[in-house]
Amino acid sequence: MSLSGTCRVCAGSVREFFDFGRQPLSDAFVEPGDTREEFFFRLAVGRCDACTMVQLMEEVPRERMFHDGYPYLSSGSAVMRAHFEAVAERFLATELTGPDPFIVEVGCNDGVMLETIAKAGVRHLGVEPSGGTADLAAAKGVQVRKVFFEHATALEVLRDHGHADVVYMANTFCHIPYVESIFAGVSALLTDNGVFVFEDPYLGDIVRRTSFDQIYDEHFYYFSGLSVQRMAQRFGFDLVDVEPLPTHGGEIRYTLARSGARTPTPAVAELLDRERETGLSEPGTLTRFAGDVARVRDELIGLLRDLRDRGKRVVGYGATAKSATVTNFCGIGPDLVEFVSDTSPTKQGRLTPGAHLPVRPPEAFADPYPDYALLFAWNHAEEIMAKERAFREAGGKWILYVPEVRVL
Ligand SMILES: [Zn+2]
Repeated sequence: MSLSGTCRVCAGSVREFFDFGRQPLSDAFVEPGDTREEFFFRLAVGRCDACTMVQLMEEVPRERMFHDGYPYLSSGSAVMRAHFEAVAERFLATELTGPDPFIVEVGCNDGVMLETIAKAGVRHLGVEPSGGTADLAAAKGVQVRKVFFEHATALEVLRDHGHADVVYMANTFCHIPYVESIFAGVSALLTDNGVFVFEDPYLGDIVRRTSFDQIYDEHFYYFSGLSVQRMAQRFGFDLVDVEPLPTHGGEIRYTLARSGARTPTPAVAELLDRERETGLSEPGTLTRFAGDVARVRDELIGLLRDLRDRGKRVVGYGATAKSATVTNFCGIGPDLVEFVSDTSPTKQGRLTPGAHLPVRPPEAFADPYPDYALLFAWNHAEEIMAKERAFREAGGKWILYVPEVRVL
């Protein structure tokens, strides 16, 4: 066990503050009867003494996570579809207004954002290493390249398409440990006044809501305004705008421009001030967070054992990537949660990573309704509870664990 490591951003010293133990890959669903040994790694997080970046202590090889069988689809939720349509409309109105604009989206998934750009007839390119999702994007009329984005990829894109006005990443940049290559690529690709825009889970929300399930293999970095500003400056960029988003349980959209190219909006200083006041990046705050995580785990497992002992049926709702951390860290097996209901055909009929909870289609959830539903997809709580009104009417209760364990 290593309690310190080397920062992937600045080579400073990273001090570990929480260890979730042995964890499987969050999107590696298992076929029943598959006897091959699952891949496990040590999921632990630390903070860089020098640049404050919070990051995983161990890196999982990217090919193990993002491949042709990658099951997550961005357009699975109506809220997310609306979100990305609004993102595209905003880019079209603000950044893509020149004579022949060009936008690159890294990690375009199934083309949920670029579809709107393509329909507007604007030049674009999606870069997506997960082949299955890239094919879905192409089927929507989106131009897509099935590769990992890095410096060399950016140079190829530049050669074939010229400079980009926008490089955009949603829930992608925090997946990529090798930031130096990313910044070199973005810097080569962008026009002089171009912007690098990315949105990812915000450390401030994770700490404030004890949403420890945001911590899993695919999320290598946990960004704050301060750590992003320092990273940007290190690679010749300024943080020029920040915008809090309600998506994925609390995110921030960061806008970077070349050093000196744009004046930062007041929102940047406001965010940095707030982080300073709350001590977000202080080691003591992260130690407190670690204590909160252990408390939530104890309460959740206590509740589930109590329900089991009273003969109640509990079913999981949403076989999310996040749920891998919850089930494996808390030790939630089929003895506590009968199965997980999920709408993704690629997950149905399989077992969740590590904990091996069966995944069944939504029809199973209502046949008959369980006494309790453990809401793993808590970031879509409003959308889901509205859709599942009949469950509540039938006497069913929801179990949530963010920001604290409660029954609704
Ligand atoms: Zn660092």
